[in-house]
Amino acid sequence: MNAEIVAVGSELLTPFRQDTNSLYLTEKLNQLGVEVIFKTIVGDNPDQVIAAARLALMRADIVIFSGGLGPTEDDLTREAVAGALGLKLHRDAEVAASIEQRFAEHGWKMSPNNAKQADVVTGAAVLKNANGTAPGQWISGKYEGRERIIILLPGPPNELKGVFDPQCMERLRAKLPSLFIATRTLKIAGLGESQCDARIAPIYKSHPEVQTTILAGAGEIQLHLRSRASAMAEAGANLDRVVTEIEEELGDFVFSDNGDSLEQIVGCFLQMRNASVAVAESCTGGLLAERITSVSGNSRYFAGGVVAYSNGLKTAFADVPVKLLEKHGAVSSEVAVALADGIRKRCGSTWGLGITGVAGPTGGTAEKPVGLVFHALASEQGTEVIERRFAGDRQRIRWFASQQALDMLRRKLM
Ligand code: AMP
Ligand code: MG
Repeated sequence: MNAEIVAVGSELLTPFRQDTNSLYLTEKLNQLGVEVIFKTIVGDNPDQVIAAARLALMRADIVIFSGGLGPTEDDLTREAVAGALGLKLHRDAEVAASIEQRFAEHGWKMSPNNAKQADVVTGAAVLKNANGTAPGQWISGKYEGRERIIILLPGPPNELKGVFDPQCMERLRAKLPSLFIATRTLKIAGLGESQCDARIAPIYKSHPEVQTTILAGAGEIQLHLRSRASAMAEAGANLDRVVTEIEEELGDFVFSDNGDSLEQIVGCFLQMRNASVAVAESCTGGLLAERITSVSGNSRYFAGGVVAYSNGLKTAFADVPVKLLEKHGAVSSEVAVALADGIRKRCGSTWGLGITGVAGPTGGTAEKPVGLVFHALASEQGTEVIERRFAGDRQRIRWFASQQALDMLRRKLM
């Protein structure tokens, strides 16, 4: 079975509110093995809600409406769905009583328009709303000759969850063939999205039993793998086969298959090796240290470091020679190396990381453009430096730089 989610609300068509309910419902439906094939957002307009409802009922087995169940004039999901289905609404005495009781319990005065929240589509089961006044509704029946499940849910996210989880999940499960879904996320660093896809497309295309989604972020690609089967062991085995093939193809570009972040992996490796790291950051302004220290237990391997933004502090805190700064400029491979070396020695750590670059959007030159970043990794054995040109805005460039520095260390520790 498949599903469509119809989010009703004019505010969802403005720049100020996002439809988050459909993300939540998609996750829940996927857990049941139901694929969401369409999502619609429609404003509070009766004709348009009816049109959206008709289209959804034509193409999906399960249609879930969110929002538009409130007491005001613009809340018209009940009327529109009844209209699309050719059914009537009736005022449900039990629901009306429970709404009145809710108002009485809170000592609120009930205004007359609240009564319309007790309107129920003929034949619908009422879904109690413990967190609000508007109940949800469950309608099952035929539309144009095809079996459909139609669910109306209140818009406020806490009310929607409070209705959907306890009252719809089991009802839906009972209607569905028993299917199990296994999921896995592979994280990849150091490869571009298109390069990555070119290498793994032949693998995932030859395994239609596994759905593969590629999500590219700054300096990291996530591969989301899902498999559905009638037994969990089978779904898991489907994933194992594909994961093994992808890991063989991509080698050490894959840094995690269990959701761990790069800073968690690096921390884990440092602990295993009984090693430590210190950082000297310029353009990342502490982002690298922030990421390392976001992992609990990092005091076992993180010595500390400096944000050495000015030239003076690069010299004072990381022993970068003044001559080097004058000769090559602060953004140079030589200064990155000196930052990494200097901070390692100052902090007495096994490893030292140095970052210097142009985060932009101002400050770039023809010789040293925005996005140019030098990353250096120092140890007793010597110091390596990587020069990169990142694209994007300031935040993205800084994130890329921190990612590159962590990945350099990860590769050394593997
Ligand atoms: P309604 O049930 O349409 O009166 O919606 C009440 C409130 O719930 C709205 O003002 C929104 O703040 C919130 N809401 C409605 N629909 C959504 C949605 N799809 N995602 C997130 N919040 C929503
Ligand atoms: Mg609304």
